[in-house]
Amino acid sequence: MSAVVQECRNCRSLLFPARLFCPVCGEDSFSTVAAETGTIEQTTTLSDGIVLATVALDGGLRLIARLTGSEAEPGQSVPLTNDPVAGSGANAYIPIHTTLNEDQS
Ligand SMILES: [Zn+2]
Repeated sequence: MSAVVQECRNCRSLLFPARLFCPVCGEDSFSTVAAETGTIEQTTTLSDGIVLATVALDGGLRLIARLTGSEAEPGQSVPLTNDPVAGSGANAYIPIHTTLNEDQS
């Protein structure tokens, strides 16, 4: 279980959400990398009870994820997952997109 983010093959910038062109260097060649954990910066609860979080990875990339499992607070480190029912404890769920522009090598 992990989240998948784009990495520019030219400048190694990590990108989320996926881009067609790197906003840093303009290249269009990407690979995917797995992100295992992140730190919650902020949360917001939607009217239907779903909790969204801004999650910071090492290196500064920020993701928007759905929190699943138990409650979590800003400052807490949480595992990132692509499984919407990842089990006990707090998890940050990010679905995998299947239409990205990566070279799968
Ligand atoms: Zn780049």
